[in-house]
Amino acid sequence: MHQKNIIEIKGLQKRFGTFQAVSDLSLNLREGEFFSLLGPSGCGKTTVLRMIAGFQDPTAGQVLIDGQDMDGIAANKRPTNMVFQSYAIFPHLNVGNNVAYGLRGRGIAKSEIEARVSEALEMVELGGLQTRGATELSGGQRQRVALARALVMRPKVLLLDEPLSALDKKLREQMQFEMRHLQQSLGITFVMVTHDQYEAMTMSDRIGVMFNGELVQVDAPQTLYAKPGTREVASFIGEMNFLPAEITDDHGDRITVTTPCFGLLPIDRNPNVRPGGRVISVGIRPEQLEISGTRPDGYDATVQGTIRDVAFYGENVHYHVQVAGIDRPIAASVPNYFHTVDHRPGDQVWLGVQSASVIDLGPDPGADQD
Ligand code: ATP
Repeated sequence: MHQKNIIEIKGLQKRFGTFQAVSDLSLNLREGEFFSLLGPSGCGKTTVLRMIAGFQDPTAGQVLIDGQDMDGIAANKRPTNMVFQSYAIFPHLNVGNNVAYGLRGRGIAKSEIEARVSEALEMVELGGLQTRGATELSGGQRQRVALARALVMRPKVLLLDEPLSALDKKLREQMQFEMRHLQQSLGITFVMVTHDQYEAMTMSDRIGVMFNGELVQVDAPQTLYAKPGTREVASFIGEMNFLPAEITDDHGDRITVTTPCFGLLPIDRNPNVRPGGRVISVGIRPEQLEISGTRPDGYDATVQGTIRDVAFYGENVHYHVQVAGIDRPIAASVPNYFHTVDHRPGDQVWLGVQSASVIDLGPDPGADQD
């Protein structure tokens, strides 16, 4: 991975009237990385992308691309290209003319345009389809034409606004891998906006999570999942059981906490959470819990409970287990492969967990600290 910053965003803000869509956002994007801005609808991620592209002016702050301040530079003069959610390919033009569109009227020789179009179509595995009508393409092929049309301009940065959202689930998953491979082989920086956590996790080197106009955490997918900086991030990316906990012993990087159902647990302090307070939340991912009809061996903590609900997802089975000491049932997810015991609602079961799977989520916002 190159460490040079291709985009530097400094104190970026966008207000629409009195509404603050993006507040004081600073972020560096590295050359050659696949970066995703992830967040719920309306959190401001598209607005950030549009400010990078030059389709929208910031209220305050700065965007630098390759060291150059983009203030006052029109979208078509920036070293970026954007792929839109709706593809925006022209139905009346054939594939070749769609891809060539941005190159025309720039004094580029016809033979060079043809060569570049052909090269861009090869990149997206549509080689030789120049004369095919735009309306004669499948959804996935149309999306690839949209990609080729952006890539033919040889941008330093490709901006992608929910590029796969118009595709059905199967095709979307296939395109996720294809786009990731394409990005890696070209080495161009991709910046993608998505509200789909799985899409962001499967495709990206790093993800920036946004809520309410604010960038709350930037990390690699694995780190976001293992060490979320807030409860909000923890529940947006994957599923998480939250338990109240109290710190009983503090060794700096390691703390011992007491939880209502699992008792005392020595755990790692999470470097991503805001420190402070004796009463914290801890999180356990559903797939980190063992569920068993008898008390399971080899776990740091176990608790007995009653099955409330069972949901069969094919590849895995989700259980909700009510245990004493906490209000909400605990979610446990078991791969179907190991699923030799079929637990049913009302069954008494045991849950087992390793303390290494218990995540410090920082001060409990609802708790009185003393
Ligand atoms: P989505 O995934 O739904 O596109 P988003 O996170 O990309 O959401 P933005 O499109 O960036 O969100 O919009 C952020 C907020 O700013 C929203 O509340 C939106 O209504 C508001 N907004 C966006 N564009 C404008 C505009 N031109 N005028 C007024 N408000 C706007």
